Amino acid sequence: MEEKTPVAETGEKETVSKNFIEQEIEKDLAEGVYDHVQTRFPPEPNGYLHIGHAKSILLNYGLAKKYGGKFNLRFDDTNPTKEKVEFVESIKADVQWLGADYEDRLFFASDYFEQMYECAVLLIKKGKAFVCDLTADQIREYRGDFKTPGKESPYRNRSVEENLRLFEEMREGKYQDGEKVLRAKIDMASPNINMRDPVIYRVAHMSHHNTGDKWCIYPMYDFAHPIEDAIEHITHSICTLEFEDHRPLYDWVVRECEFENPPRQIEFAKLYLTNVVTGKRYIKKLVEDGIVDGWDDPRLVSIAALRRRGYTPESIRMFVDLVGVAKANSSVDYALLEYCIREDLKLKRARMMAVLDPVKLVIDNYPEDQMEEVEVPNNLENPDLGTRMVPFGRELYIEREDFMEVPPKKYFRMFPGNEVRLMGAYFVTCTGCEKDENGNVTVVHCTYDPETKGGSSADGRKVKGTIHWVAAKTAVKAECRLYENIVDEEKGKLNEDGTLNLNPNSLTVLSECYVEPELGKAQAYDSYQFMRNGYFCADCKDSRPDHLVFNRIVSLKSSFKLKKD
Ligand code: ATP
Ligand code: MG
Repeated sequence: MEEKTPVAETGEKETVSKNFIEQEIEKDLAEGVYDHVQTRFPPEPNGYLHIGHAKSILLNYGLAKKYGGKFNLRFDDTNPTKEKVEFVESIKADVQWLGADYEDRLFFASDYFEQMYECAVLLIKKGKAFVCDLTADQIREYRGDFKTPGKESPYRNRSVEENLRLFEEMREGKYQDGEKVLRAKIDMASPNINMRDPVIYRVAHMSHHNTGDKWCIYPMYDFAHPIEDAIEHITHSICTLEFEDHRPLYDWVVRECEFENPPRQIEFAKLYLTNVVTGKRYIKKLVEDGIVDGWDDPRLVSIAALRRRGYTPESIRMFVDLVGVAKANSSVDYALLEYCIREDLKLKRARMMAVLDPVKLVIDNYPEDQMEEVEVPNNLENPDLGTRMVPFGRELYIEREDFMEVPPKKYFRMFPGNEVRLMGAYFVTCTGCEKDENGNVTVVHCTYDPETKGGSSADGRKVKGTIHWVAAKTAVKAECRLYENIVDEEKGKLNEDGTLNLNPNSLTVLSECYVEPELGKAQAYDSYQFMRNGYFCADCKDSRPDHLVFNRIVSLKSSFKLKKD
């Protein structure tokens, strides 16, 4: 995998100074528009959360914390078609894992259905809403477009009494899905299409995960969301840019429903990442088509997937901080996320020896049955992590690429006649190799210098190469999974037909890896640096004591790569 310099292409360098949302909040507090700050994260429980949502969660939580306010988690569960309890549970777990503490403020929009209904009745009584019998297609047609003004519905001038009766009948289940809707009466000539008598309630005979069969009418998002915010005394309702054109409707709803001290909506740009898939729609399809192993497949950037892959909440917080808050859409380089996890793990995790593509190394002058232990520092850059004892013997595994019969220039590892250091152990001199009938190297031979224990020689002799190893007798077998981007961004993320352009090499399974015995104790989510191979994390789904599975979180930055020409 090529290393790229991470760049946050946000166009804004506002990470230290105040971002524009903070400026707005401070202005509101200074002018007395609000005397407190209350934010919320309002997911629709129709899928798993992804890195973009993490940004929204941490932004909302961070603002509440910064201004001594409160942060709510509220499920925007007003559309029973796609919502599931499984998603509610996963979202709660993800928000908690990220450290966004909503304390006892876990809310469900569906708990406000009665209040929303009352708001709708109030609008009808004020002559600001009417029951409409047009079909969905007719409503669309009447609404016009950017060039054509809308046409008023023939049902627009129904009396308040008739509207009240019909709306009640809608609630009582007298009408089929689509037969009638409740619409706000605003302005069919508005240049903003969202204001052209939007539908605010529809009939849908469907069971809801929270309210069961109590309701057969459900509020539309643009009507429900501002009411949810107002009921919870949200001050700053932070959402993404696509809702900018909906803001006049948001303001209309809270005003006409007569909420005191109504919330205000502020929009920011969605977070997009290169080389990954963030849209729920696409992820869902990958899951349903069996291309990935569930919503938490480590190639995805759902929060569950990032956690499974070995990302930490700290690394994601660092990433979100570095990206900052912008008002214009842009894409952030995936390499920035990788940079953050490397930075977070660099000093915190032990550096272990694991051989991913093994070939046997036999030290011919080392006593047959002898085993000894060598002391290896856990992290050279962080002595606080101490040292550990690693078993060493006559037969070891080394990486296949650490031996070459005929070395190219500047290759300092094993080749006949060359002396190298076995990390933390001894100097060895390569004496040759054995091969099978196809010419593949099966065993590498060497001799060791017993005077070099610990990896240095008394006579001051230097070696240029240091390689890692695992003693064959005590090695633990493991499976390592290496990942590349799931989409082939070089050729374009999407094909012409709108399907994703998948990278066929996004997953490589190495099933015959050998790791040092200490790693045999790895529990789900434990992560380590595997020397020279990257950071790895024990897979929470598939790793068991008798079948270890490690996911590569990210490769290391600098490692000598053989040029392939
Ligand atoms: P998607 O489009 O990825 O399916 P969504 O917007 O439908 O996501 P919601 O559950 O409605 O998902 O979103 C909850 C909150 O997360 C909203 O406030 C939304 O604006 C915010 N959000 C969603 N995607 C992103 C993103 N990529 N970057 C930042 N915030 C996001
Ligand atoms: Mg949505």
